[in-house]
Amino acid sequence: MKRRDFQRAALALALQPWLLPLAGAESAAPRWRGNPFALGVASGQPRPDGVVLWTRLAPDFESLPEAPADPALVVGYEIFSDEALRQRVQRGQVRTGAARAHSVHVQVRGLRPDRYYWYRFTCGDAVSPVGRTRTAPAPDAAVSHLRLALASCQHYEQGYYVAHREIARQDLDLVLFLGDYIYEGTNPDHKVAPGVREHPQEVPRTLDGYRRRHALYKRDPDLRAAHAAHPWLMTWDDHDVVNDYAGDQDARGTDPAVFLRRRAAAYQAYFEHMPLRLGPEPAGGASMRIYDRMVWGQLAELWTLDCRQYRSPQACPDPLRGGGRMVLGCDALTDTRRTMLGEAQERWLGESLSASRRAWKIVAQATQISSTGIDSPLGRTTYTDAWDGYPAARARLLRTVADARLADVVTLGGDVHMNVAAQLRLQPNDERSPVLASEFVTTSISSRGMSDAVLERIRAGNADIVHARADERGYTRVEVTAQGVSAEFRTTPYPATADAALGTQARFAVARGRAGVEKA
Ligand code: FE
Ligand code: CA
Repeated sequence: MKRRDFQRAALALALQPWLLPLAGAESAAPRWRGNPFALGVASGQPRPDGVVLWTRLAPDFESLPEAPADPALVVGYEIFSDEALRQRVQRGQVRTGAARAHSVHVQVRGLRPDRYYWYRFTCGDAVSPVGRTRTAPAPDAAVSHLRLALASCQHYEQGYYVAHREIARQDLDLVLFLGDYIYEGTNPDHKVAPGVREHPQEVPRTLDGYRRRHALYKRDPDLRAAHAAHPWLMTWDDHDVVNDYAGDQDARGTDPAVFLRRRAAAYQAYFEHMPLRLGPEPAGGASMRIYDRMVWGQLAELWTLDCRQYRSPQACPDPLRGGGRMVLGCDALTDTRRTMLGEAQERWLGESLSASRRAWKIVAQATQISSTGIDSPLGRTTYTDAWDGYPAARARLLRTVADARLADVVTLGGDVHMNVAAQLRLQPNDERSPVLASEFVTTSISSRGMSDAVLERIRAGNADIVHARADERGYTRVEVTAQGVSAEFRTTPYPATADAALGTQARFAVARGRAGVEKA
């Protein structure tokens, strides 16, 4: 098709209603030379009646006969109730364009609860890979189990995504990804081996930069396979924008008005690459609600929290570096006005957590809640970027659990690049303070962890930490049943080996009705 014809066809499309007969779309769409679905397909945020389906057409349009400046395109989607794709239950079309980086988010409704579905996209003569997804059980259904993979922190330069390869092959209901999906920076000291692979572009600061970074990560076949195999629930952490940012401030003390433009670009690109219901509000703005609540029948209620967008800045920052660090004798830490979740999210969580009558309350958030302080001759040092740096906010969260007499709260976290199983008490590490909840933190998919020497001092200073290992990469397999929650740390010490196999580092369990983790 000539460029002028293409523009005329695109204009004709623009005058059409949102949903078009398939023939109309095909006549207007280009014949692709390459694969416009190179970034794969994904699904997320399952509900009893639907799910969000996602794809993004190849960002560089390398496969178009002639690349128009802004080709508005119509993308078709089909949903099947069988793997052989014989029973089509829905189809439709959506329009996309350069303003949203040719991403597609379909909010499917009208599906049946607790069912697997298969889906694919079409655009012109191109057909996407097939994804598998599932709906959540009905809210009142008796459900025997919820099986999920917990993952976070996948620095591209620090290892391969062998964990995603295993996740893609597992029998799971969900993948729960807790942040650091991309990394903006390069740490020359943390490359696991020379030549593993590199970020080819400079540090992203603009919408175009973040889109390129996301597209790079999505070109990894193991990551695409994990997306195509299961619906994902997601939240973000700092590196999805920039290291150690807190609310409207970055660690460098950039003018918040300037930083918020960068945050808006990062959030917009994040939305464009994820199977999410909601994007920035207003479109392209610096605010985006990502915290969410999901119900899994009568078995579980699951909250995914945002620990970055609304938090107070880290206490007592290094005046030159900013951000998080180890501090000693920092009075600002205990200021009760300091918040991790922001007032609105904290109230929303508190109210819905207190009211939940489901067997398990699963609070998924980006970082570590249990204390990691290190005792020294001069006193106790505290890492200020995780919940330890927000002790008043942590106490409010745990007091909510205590006041509502919730026995079955399990928190899930990421960010710290280590596997952790820990008891959560109002007074950390104080045996007289009852265990109120149980924590599992998953190690990173690929990002390097702290040294054993430091971790040994953390273990020594924190009796509540039952297990902590930072030397291996992987994910955590979590299984929830009426009787208990189990966590299996699946890891490899060789993230730089492209075909490394994972093994089980350790297993822990929480018994119904008794808060606290136990070795299983
Ligand atoms: Fe990380
Ligand atoms: Ca992080």
